[in-house]
Amino acid sequence: MTNITITHSDSGLLHAQVLKKEQISPNFVRVTLGGADLTRFQFVGADQWFRLVIPVHEGDRLDLMPQRFGVAGFLRYLSLPKGVRPVVRNYTVRSYRPSPAEIDIDFVVHGSEGIAAPWASRVESDFEVALIDQGCGWHPKLADWYLLTGDESSLPALAGIIRDLPDESAGHAFIELFDKRDRQELNAPKGFQVHWLERSATQAPGSKLLPTLERFAFPSGTPYAFSVGESALATGVRRHLVAQRGVPKAQITFSGYWKLGKSAWT
Ligand SMILES: Cc1cc2nc3c(=O)[nH]c(=O)nc-3n(C[C@H](O)[C@H](O)[C@H](O)COP(=O)(O)OP(=O)(O)OC[C@H]3O[C@@H](n4cnc5c(N)ncnc54)[C@H](O)[C@@H]3O)c2cc1C
Repeated sequence: MTNITITHSDSGLLHAQVLKKEQISPNFVRVTLGGADLTRFQFVGADQWFRLVIPVHEGDRLDLMPQRFGVAGFLRYLSLPKGVRPVVRNYTVRSYRPSPAEIDIDFVVHGSEGIAAPWASRVESDFEVALIDQGCGWHPKLADWYLLTGDESSLPALAGIIRDLPDESAGHAFIELFDKRDRQELNAPKGFQVHWLERSATQAPGSKLLPTLERFAFPSGTPYAFSVGESALATGVRRHLVAQRGVPKAQITFSGYWKLGKSAWT
């Protein structure tokens, strides 16, 4: 579930090549993409995300992909016959450098299941992919303070938002990981506090975050909340904020980034 509005820049389908891959922490692999097309990427920061198009079968065709991934684009994508239809997954721009144009993507490596994470762990330089910009989910409303919540899959998004917060921003981020060695250095504004939480690898995402949030003494005033990560975590936070804290739904952006036990749609 999500209430994020998708926005498309006019950059369309961009082709890119894998430049390098780096194991940045025990459960994260950073893949850097480059190539001439990426000079047309319109970087807007925060949690900007995109559809990553990965050819996984011989015969998969990047050139048949739609330029946009709205309803029409998605239907066109689904109409591609198996055998030429690449896999599409959602990822966040962890960093963008304009010259030469490069995008870093931080992948949670979550085992052998699925397509994107196993691909990221074994990909080599020069592999060809494509991407379609989807804009940002972070569109803060007028608020006295910000509340960011998520699990490891949200770390790139929350890190990007924190990086780009205005200096005078106040608030709290609660980031739950299953391995504290995956923490990253986040330079938050002075009035903004990052709380790292750790669940055990066998616990469901949100096991630590939801009870912590329930006990947390909220600052006064109206928050704008951004809750992403595993589906039950993202919706659980929203439910708590609305039912127990009286936060208006319009002040909450939420998105299930992945669902326990379920593959993404393609
Ligand atoms: C807007 C947006 C931005 C995102 N940005 C990032 C990002 O920058 N980095 C990132 O790592 N993820 C990110 N995600 C989440 C990512 O798209 C999903 O985790 C995706 O399902 C991974 O695809 P897959 O092919 O590896 O696994 P799938 O084929 O989708 O799933 C296979 C199995 O793996 C499980 N699984 C999927 N993801 C995870 C996970 N993170 N941890 C544990 N188990 C999992 C599923 O429950 C399923 O059982 C983002 C999602 C959205 C919607």
